Amino acid sequence: MNGQVPRAPLAELNGVVKRFGNKTALAGVDLAIRPGELVALLGPNGAGKTTAVRLLLGLLRPDAGTALLFSRDPSMPEARQRMGALLQISKVPETLTPREHLRLFASYYPDPLTPAEALAAVGLEDRGDRLFGKLSGGERQRALFALALVGRPDLLVLDEPTVGLDVEARRALWEQTRAQVNAGRSVLLTTHYLEEADALADRVVVIHSGRVVAQGTPQHIKSLAAGRRIRARSRLPIETVKAISGVTSVRRDGEILEILTPRAEGVTAALLAADRDLMDLEITSAGLEEAFLALTRNPVAPAGDPS
Ligand code: ATP
Repeated sequence: MNGQVPRAPLAELNGVVKRFGNKTALAGVDLAIRPGELVALLGPNGAGKTTAVRLLLGLLRPDAGTALLFSRDPSMPEARQRMGALLQISKVPETLTPREHLRLFASYYPDPLTPAEALAAVGLEDRGDRLFGKLSGGERQRALFALALVGRPDLLVLDEPTVGLDVEARRALWEQTRAQVNAGRSVLLTTHYLEEADALADRVVVIHSGRVVAQGTPQHIKSLAAGRRIRARSRLPIETVKAISGVTSVRRDGEILEILTPRAEGVTAALLAADRDLMDLEITSAGLEEAFLALTRNPVAPAGDPS
């Protein structure tokens, strides 16, 4: 890939707002994908991931802020030519074979892979001549991935690429994605699986209700999301509980305190030390969805991104 401008982002959203009618899908999002980086945009359903991708591909226009692809308007052909995308809505005619599709797609690019190279990159050598309509779900997804790769893009955009795939197919796609990063490509991947972001990403950007609520290494995000929910009957003031190290969020429901934390042992010990009358202590695991909600209620300072 081109190494002359080492740190300029390949794709960026700056203060982007996007509304659909009175629904705000993105409420001021900053995002940058730099050379050689795999960024996972992680968030639950409806968070705004696909909207962010569509803005970067020039399929939507921001209501405020800017979207740039290779420092240009994303709808410019020069920008689009350096990007390959696997979208949730990607569809190709079922009565052509992957090899035929690849030949056609290759004709749009100045220096494409051969169909055989693209098929090999996704482990689909033995399905190149089968009709697309006769491929399994996982094979179709790999064929679409090959189409995204055929132009030797500098940036790959993968929108929830493993939804609906079984574990084996998902892992195969992860391997192939990693191989692309090792070959020097940048990748923007959207996912609602923390596991997927963890397996692949250099940097994870967590989006919720159209806002970036956290970002950092997978390790950092996992520590935020590896939450436990502690419930207990206690009169401790919320401010006292918030001050305990490791507490992500606190809520009171009558006499019941509800706390989210990645460090249940330490927080429980501190609670017991602060309130000898504490009763009905209960610790359960808080899922990722709940961790997202906690992050939204109590935003964590973005980490690891100077922008
Ligand atoms: P999912 O994981 O379900 O694909 P997402 O994170 O990609 O979700 P978006 O598809 O970006 O979320 O949607 C963000 C919000 O904007 C949602 O509330 C969605 O209903 C709304 N939205 C998206 N596209 C449109 C549209 N064309 N018209 C109206 N509302 C839309």
